[in-house]
Amino acid sequence: MIWILLGPPGAGKGTQAKMLAEHLGAEHVSTGDLLRQAVAEGTELGRKAKSFMEAGELVPDELILGMVREKLGSGSAGGWILDGYPRNRVQAESLAGMLGEVGETIACVVDLQVPEDELVRRIAGRAADEGRADDTEETVRNRLRVYREQTQPLIDYYGGRGLLQAVDGVGGIEEIGSRVQAVAGAAGRTPR
Ligand code: AMP
Repeated sequence: MIWILLGPPGAGKGTQAKMLAEHLGAEHVSTGDLLRQAVAEGTELGRKAKSFMEAGELVPDELILGMVREKLGSGSAGGWILDGYPRNRVQAESLAGMLGEVGETIACVVDLQVPEDELVRRIAGRAADEGRADDTEETVRNRLRVYREQTQPLIDYYGGRGLLQAVDGVGGIEEIGSRVQAVAGAAGRTPR
C-alpha cells in the first residue's frame, strides 16, 4: 500500500510524512532527502541534481524514476509514504506503471492545504533554522511557481481517480497529524 503526501513547499509534508509512517508502520520515502544525501555524498546522481535543486527546479524525471524504482523495488512490509514524489504528470504516470511491478496499490493521496502567505512565513523560518541551500527568497519563489505549474495539476489527476483527500494543513503539528492519520488510516483499510 502506498500513501502519497502532496502539497506545496512549506506545507509540512516532511514532518507529516514521518509522523504518518510511524503511525502506520510504513516506510517514509522523501525524494528530496534522498537527493540531498546524494549531493552531500557527491555521487553521480548528486552531481547531476545539485544545480536543479539550488535553482528550485525539478530534477530531470529520468534521474528521479531510477531512484524511486530502486527504493520501491526493495520492498516494505508496512507499505510506503511518498513525500515529494510524484511531482508532475510524467512521474505520476510512471508511478502508476510501476505499481503492478512492485505489487503495490495507492491507498490515497493526501493534499495538505496551506495558504501561500503562511507558506512563505514558514519557509523563511525554516531557512533560518536549517540553512537549506534552496531556501533563499528567489529559490523559494521559484519552487512555489514550479509547484503551481507542475505539481498542482496532480490534484485533478488523482481527484479524477477518486484517490484524493484534502486536509487542512494549518494548525498545530499534532492536530494536523490527527487529520492526516484519520483520512490515511481509513483509506488504508479500503484498498482499491
Ligand atoms: P523537497 O525536499 O521535496 O522540497 O525537494 C527539494 C528539491 O529536490 C526540489 O526543489 C527539487 O529540486 C528536488 N526534488 C525532490 N523531489 C523531486 C521529484 N520528485 N522530482 C524532481 N525533483 C525533485
